[in-house]
Amino acid sequence: MGDAATGEVTELLQQLIRNRCVNDGTPESGDEARSAGTLHAYLEGSGLDVERFESRPGRESLVTRIEGTDPAAPSLLLLGHTDVVPVNEDRWTRDPFGGELVDGVVWGRGAVDMLNLTASMAVATRRLAGRGFRPRGTLIYAAVADEEANGTFGAAHLADHERDHVAADYMITETGGFPISLGGDVALPVLVAEKGTMSSRLRVTGTPGHGSMPFGADNALVKAGEVVRRVGAYEPATRIHDQWRAFVEGIDIPAELAEPLLSEEGFVEMCAAIGPIGRMAHACTRTTITPTLVHGGSKLNVIPDTVEIGLDIRTLPGDGLDEVRAMLDDALGDLSDDVEFVPGHVIDATASASGTPLWDAIARVTEQFYAGAPLVPVMMPGATDARHLRPLGTVSYGFGLFSEAISLEAIATMAHGDDERVDVESLGMVTEMWEQLAVDFLG
Ligand SMILES: [Zn+2]
Repeated sequence: MGDAATGEVTELLQQLIRNRCVNDGTPESGDEARSAGTLHAYLEGSGLDVERFESRPGRESLVTRIEGTDPAAPSLLLLGHTDVVPVNEDRWTRDPFGGELVDGVVWGRGAVDMLNLTASMAVATRRLAGRGFRPRGTLIYAAVADEEANGTFGAAHLADHERDHVAADYMITETGGFPISLGGDVALPVLVAEKGTMSSRLRVTGTPGHGSMPFGADNALVKAGEVVRRVGAYEPATRIHDQWRAFVEGIDIPAELAEPLLSEEGFVEMCAAIGPIGRMAHACTRTTITPTLVHGGSKLNVIPDTVEIGLDIRTLPGDGLDEVRAMLDDALGDLSDDVEFVPGHVIDATASASGTPLWDAIARVTEQFYAGAPLVPVMMPGATDARHLRPLGTVSYGFGLFSEAISLEAIATMAHGDDERVDVESLGMVTEMWEQLAVDFLG
């Protein structure tokens, strides 16, 4: 990769970080119009037609395309998001929205989730357009709002209301492509599936009373404390499903390590013993229920009669409301009767097949960066915008490319964590990879 492209992607990433498109989950947050503007300014002038779509004030997504010459040839959508999650500024070594470049590393919220990919996809698209790339299949680039909430104002909005602009046979979004090595040769993960979500609440009820006389009170907050403890301690059953098996069998690891990864017996103990990667192994092999929010109480001297606990629930394929309800009953035991389960919006787990023509193209192209490294299919514990595209019939993967400086552990700790940062070498690599992939796959 020329230094020019690496410089371009680095600069564009720094700008996107500085735009501070923080999505706190409220419709008013995000303000992705800023980054849509940055990307628009970057892309125009290269012969590309850029369109912007506003789903509500400030929530803008951008789409551009290089039209293919053969309507029968498969199309490819490169989809990045422009929003980021909030930060706890005190815990960062550097300004999370400064986009500082220090010793070949760009610092800032979104550096690996996923402004790095959003920027590199834009640079690749612009460079292809700039040199008159005329593929057989259409290349679409989209930079969307609101991935960090539910995609309502971004990918879901486009899929529902602007389908013609984003419909594609194949799609790539975050993330994957961080070299994994568990004691053997390097493998590159491709996200082919993601768990479902069921953001829900537990309503804990008690009896109101005066805070000055707590003895024998039916305090909903005290009960909620025990409810949180029990849900937090609950361990849903380990399930070694086909997706997990394909992943473990796809990476090159010694048998003594592979065996426990494929055995339900003792699995949780093993996760505890293998560090940050254990957290991912644990999440990939069960439905998880995580208490993350609490709302309750009205006044300091009033014993609360209602407390609500927010639950981040991530389901494996096959687990629906009934299964989750049964797990909660199990977790709560004799407290079940005092607690009402209020299910939220349910989005089922989704998956795309590996071994497609796009899969093969990724394998050919990545061979030049990581020779001999196989692609391995992975289920993602979190959700991406792929869940909005898969129902349209789009084969959707999560992929990118990172240097060996970025490990699976690093990604797992930095994404949504502190001191998020990415090396410039990774930015150059991934930009070149998108260019080569577009040429290889779209012809
Ligand atoms: Zn993301």
